[in-house]
Amino acid sequence: MNRPLPDISSLKPVGGKRSSKRDLILNAFVRQEGHLSADDLYDLVRKEDPGIGRATVYRTLQWMVGAGVARKVDFGDGRSRFEPSYRHPRHFHFICNTCHRSSEFLSSDIESLIDEIAAAREFATTQAVVQVFGECVDCRTGRRTPSLEHGVTERVFARDAMRIAIATERSGLEFYTRAAGMTRDPQGRAVFERLAEEEQEHLGTLEKRYAELLVDDPDLETRPTFLFFKGPAHGLFADGTAELRKGGVNDLQALLIGIRCERGSHRFFKRYGERFEDSEGKQIFLEFADEERAHLDLLIREYRALQTRLGTVGRPRRRAAAGRPTR
Ligand SMILES: [Zn+2]
Ligand SMILES: [Zn+2]
Repeated sequence: MNRPLPDISSLKPVGGKRSSKRDLILNAFVRQEGHLSADDLYDLVRKEDPGIGRATVYRTLQWMVGAGVARKVDFGDGRSRFEPSYRHPRHFHFICNTCHRSSEFLSSDIESLIDEIAAAREFATTQAVVQVFGECVDCRTGRRTPSLEHGVTERVFARDAMRIAIATERSGLEFYTRAAGMTRDPQGRAVFERLAEEEQEHLGTLEKRYAELLVDDPDLETRPTFLFFKGPAHGLFADGTAELRKGGVNDLQALLIGIRCERGSHRFFKRYGERFEDSEGKQIFLEFADEERAHLDLLIREYRALQTRLGTVGRPRRRAAAGRPTR
């Protein structure tokens, strides 16, 4: 699913050189960020060059699907539609029965639920299509709300990726600050303090980048959420912090909770980062996955060092629930 970014300028149809007609069709399609049927695209293209035939448009669409520039979507109304897949991850759709427009979202919570059910059924999934039919806010109220229209999807995607990363940093900062405050072992405390400082620093960098995005598009804040990642948006370290808050956690256990949170966070950002098409959102996720990996390694090293200092290595542990740090 993780295809390398196609360089549109270098794409050539199999068995032929690129014609200017194909260029025109390709450009018309890429400029338009909606979900076009072949006939919609034909109408668009005809406005620019009435000499282009329907068959050429159809053929070019098929070629674009093969080249990874377009994705076929089916909204169940008997017409195939096509959307750009360039710099745009696979997503779910809300489809309005009145105006037939669709709005896009991606939900890690829905996906984990599907994964969970699939695992219970021992079903190997390849692709999940989620389509929700109803009436959109514009049709219900007559208002015109800011949408994920032409040209903004990529920025919205970057905005959302950054929001999730920021939420994770904040929850990480809270976790490490609390862990540092309750750790008795000076070296362990220093590790937590260092991680809290790093989270603080990364948070500052991300917030700056976020502000820069808003300068480019002042409406960006009000556009609908594309990455609807509820669990992660509340902070992947929130559960860990709750555990620390309950009390009765010793130094080794605090490190283990940190290891679990970092591992979860690393896996989450890596999984989605690798899945996303090449984009700023992807880059943010992959950079973040690397940072979390470095934190994870640091915590594992500290866990082992503390075990050695405490002389607990090799002895049967009294608290079986503590488990072992693994990757
Ligand atoms: Zn509508
Ligand atoms: Zn779509």
